Amino acid sequence: MENTTSPDRQPEEPTCLQDLSKPLIDHAEGQLFLNEAFKIIVEEVLCNGTDVNHKVCEWKEPNDLAQLLDLALREVGEPQHQVLQRVKDVAKYSVKTSHPRFFNQQYGGVDYHALAGRFLSEALNTNLFTYEVAPVFVLMEAEVLKGLRQLVGWAEGDGLFCPGGSTSNMYAMNLARYQMFPDVKSRGLWNLPRLTVFTSSQSHYSVQKGAAFLGIGTDNVIVVKVDDGGRMIAEDLDEKIKLSKSEGAVPFLVSCTSGSTVQGAFDPLDRIADVCEKHNLWMHVDAAWGGSVLVSKQHRHLMKGVERANSVAWNPHKMLVAGLQCSILLLRDTTNLLKRCHSASATYLFQQDKFYDTNLDIGDKSVQCSRKVDCLKLWLMWKAVGTLGLAERVDRAFLHVRYLLEQMEKREGFHLLWKPDFVNVCFWFIPPSMRGKEENADDWEKLAKVAPIIKERMVKSGTMMVGYQPLGDKVNFFRVVVFSPLVTQKDVDFFLDEIERLGNDL
Ligand SMILES: *Cc1c(COP(=O)(O)O)cnc(C)c1O
Repeated sequence: MENTTSPDRQPEEPTCLQDLSKPLIDHAEGQLFLNEAFKIIVEEVLCNGTDVNHKVCEWKEPNDLAQLLDLALREVGEPQHQVLQRVKDVAKYSVKTSHPRFFNQQYGGVDYHALAGRFLSEALNTNLFTYEVAPVFVLMEAEVLKGLRQLVGWAEGDGLFCPGGSTSNMYAMNLARYQMFPDVKSRGLWNLPRLTVFTSSQSHYSVQKGAAFLGIGTDNVIVVKVDDGGRMIAEDLDEKIKLSKSEGAVPFLVSCTSGSTVQGAFDPLDRIADVCEKHNLWMHVDAAWGGSVLVSKQHRHLMKGVERANSVAWNPHKMLVAGLQCSILLLRDTTNLLKRCHSASATYLFQQDKFYDTNLDIGDKSVQCSRKVDCLKLWLMWKAVGTLGLAERVDRAFLHVRYLLEQMEKREGFHLLWKPDFVNVCFWFIPPSMRGKEENADDWEKLAKVAPIIKERMVKSGTMMVGYQPLGDKVNFFRVVVFSPLVTQKDVDFFLDEIERLGNDL
């Protein structure tokens, strides 16, 4: 007889036996759910979420939001209708970045072909490391990289889709160091000299992060001066490189910016290339934001000289609206530097005795193992609209900006900080009570508070979103970036009206 009270009894049998002859997930039920969820996504995110009669954001205090969402995870699952309600809630309380009045960041808007590509790569759920597991995407990535390199002006070269522009910039830094000191891969940092990186004061913070991450040190990122428009001064770069050498350091990389994050400034690439050639330094162009001008015959002159660079970082998820994430590092190199620098030759993945050309197993170029398919969304969109269609978007963004500037000039209280190179428009809104008194230090302090108050009112009413920041000696100002293909002139007018409505009483 079984003694149920015995402390050393066998573990209990599972109460519910599993039927192993059927899959654990029911396909019919799952697909029904997916169809319903998809309807909600289309309705809430793509219809309402892009409709100017609906809000850009539905602001809630964090505690209230946590309660509304009922985030806690439990032992027992919920019925389907309740899970669908969860889908709805997530959509409802999320910021609608596709909304034509979302001007907050350098991504936004929606491209339906790219979105189809995003859904397709999610559904296929594959990993871009070997031809064996991603035959379509290995070939596709190579083709997209080739197309992008041609826009840069390189007939040959290499490249990689990376998880974001910051990562692309870090790759460039690692490659530049490896090129100069190939032993670093095996021997590490202990036997290197003090290395220095040069970048402008307006460059993206990922240059600092990269230096910290790669053991170069943020103190060794030498900041080069910019002109009034925020563009690197090549003569100062030359001076700083000489100074660094005289101090016993070894300069190895110049990271230029094409389209700086706040000002939208383009560094003079040709002049910087001269300096890099003179000192034999790796020239990287961080074109995460501005790279998209390369598709436009009218505006690509902003990056004149880019073909002289060693590497370029470019985010089509920003201006081209490819969707997060779509970021690329492009290289002029033809010596397989990317693979030599990053490969670990794992024998379980990259077997050398495979039955096909193992050069197609591109995964070892990356520092990642699993790598998402980010090329499909760009490829599908590019196929659908062609290079000319992409150029149309870029050209349209510049036209919107021209219109915005004209309108700002006609209105009182909009004070432009500098004439933009690109589609970043930086301005102060000066409320009627403060007009004509900008010289006074007290008034600057007051003005610094205007943008944060307008921003709070804007987010709480949900009508639009735009970012603000201080920069150097300039107190808080708005930076509006206009590029979404969904934006019309009406939205630009609304933007100015709304700033006035929210700030006129301050
Ligand atoms: C946005 C941006 C980056 C960073 O790209 P992520 O994809 O957000 O990591 C880098 N450089 C510049 C100039 C940028 O504007």
